[in-house]
Amino acid sequence: MASDQGLITNIQRFSLDDGPGIRTTVFLKGCNLRCAWCHNPECLESRPQLQFNPSLCVHCGRCSVACSEQALVRVGKELRWHSKACRHCGACAGVCPSDALSMVGRFVAVDELVALLARDAVYYRKSGGGVTLSGGEPLLQAGFCQSALKRFREEGFHTAVDTAGLVEWSAFELVIPYTSLFLFDLKAMDKTLHRSLTCQDNHVIIENFTRLRDSGVAIWVRVPLAGGKNDTKAEMDRLLELVGKGGIERVEFLPYHEYGRGKYDLLGFFYDKLDLHPPSIKRQNEILEKFQGNGIPVHLSTKTGKENAS
Ligand code: SF4
Ligand code: SF4
Repeated sequence: MASDQGLITNIQRFSLDDGPGIRTTVFLKGCNLRCAWCHNPECLESRPQLQFNPSLCVHCGRCSVACSEQALVRVGKELRWHSKACRHCGACAGVCPSDALSMVGRFVAVDELVALLARDAVYYRKSGGGVTLSGGEPLLQAGFCQSALKRFREEGFHTAVDTAGLVEWSAFELVIPYTSLFLFDLKAMDKTLHRSLTCQDNHVIIENFTRLRDSGVAIWVRVPLAGGKNDTKAEMDRLLELVGKGGIERVEFLPYHEYGRGKYDLLGFFYDKLDLHPPSIKRQNEILEKFQGNGIPVHLSTKTGKENAS
């Protein structure tokens, strides 16, 4: 169902990593995967939420008074946020004078996005860029994506959707007519490995990917690479079999990194990286050569996809 309002965390202008040319990336909030390497933890929950940056706190005490849940407690000069008691109402952020407390996530209307994008239309035209809906999993808000993409197309913008594919096929059907390019994240081929890395099975993802590929739309595949996990020969053989059947414009490999780690503390989340590390440079080169040798254009990114500037 079409929807004019979407829940987002951030709008990143002048992005060079989310499709061709200079782009504006809109990060939608809510995700049904829990990837061990996620660098946008603020996009996981499908609701606005509080974040706390202690380094900005000026110890005024206003938030403790405003909180009805006793979730913010002063211990000496230090303020402690009990995130499990917090109901993310935002009352404390409303009285905080220093932005130490702030809300992540806001509802945005399609018209507001179109007005924002219009400022950069000249850059899109000159660079072959456009707008990318990312997240989180944008297709969890498929009705909003459909409304937004339709309007973007009417404005003449190139449109991309960055998805991990764990949604009903009907969500794809809503957006396919208005999407110039899909950025499709494939995390792992083996279902047990996929579950251990993302907390979800991959059979729906593979099904949707195959259907999308066979429908003839433009696709770039994105693969986050974790050394000793999804960079093995068996994993790469299966990936090559899936993407080597034609219909894929390029494959982007994104070696594991920890640039988003600090966000976990701000959100009151525990960061468990499961002993992940990037593949060696030698292994990264072997993978690139393997795909190039099979005629598939590849790209090695220096950052993990869905990077959010917030
Ligand atoms: S968001 Fe609401 S419940 Fe959470 S700490 Fe602030 S005032 Fe308390
Ligand atoms: S209102 Fe803001 S600055 Fe004041 S104690 Fe709370 S977090 Fe610190």
